[in-house]
Amino acid sequence: MTVGILTFLRGGANAEELMKLAEAVSSDAQTRREEAAKHAAKIEMEEGAREAWKEALAESDGPGALLAPERVSAFLLAGNARFTLVSKVTGARFTFRVRESRDEGDTRYFVQVLTGPCNETNYEFLGTVFDRKRFIHGRKSRISPSAPSARAFLWFAAAAFGRGVVPATCEVWHEGRCAKCGRTLTDPESIQTGLGPKCAGSE
Ligand SMILES: [Zn+2]
Repeated sequence: MTVGILTFLRGGANAEELMKLAEAVSSDAQTRREEAAKHAAKIEMEEGAREAWKEALAESDGPGALLAPERVSAFLLAGNARFTLVSKVTGARFTFRVRESRDEGDTRYFVQVLTGPCNETNYEFLGTVFDRKRFIHGRKSRISPSAPSARAFLWFAAAAFGRGVVPATCEVWHEGRCAKCGRTLTDPESIQTGLGPKCAGSE
């Protein structure tokens, strides 16, 4: 095409070449129209899909991986739960892990709290859930019972395990995974976008 136009502009084109050029332009326009139509159809389909997605979200737990309160209890005691509690009042958040242990003859759940920058490995023992309802702060825990994370979990556990409810002032987020690097996401903002902070900032 470009060569044809250049030939034409230089005045070196004969009739046959001009005919070919005209055909090429017309078929090019036809192709572009077809591509535009396909593109429009694709956008329409995507908008339809978006609507369906919105409806599905409205009926589910809300944005991202925010858990509905009635589903929290089953989630917490599933055996290998990792989640982040967010106070709707203060915005404070803590990430915990609740893992099932059958080693002692009965079923217990060991609770750990995230204490470092790596949400895969930086956890410390916090306490134990007995009988699927009683959380007791661990005597061997290096976290003080008066530490904010310990107090938050104690308060949450009394409601979630004891009464099977989640306080209205609290959100429970289960983990997400970064769509770019595959790392575990525990920060609700990252869970919502599906990208970790580093990956969200880079192209
Ligand atoms: Zn990432």
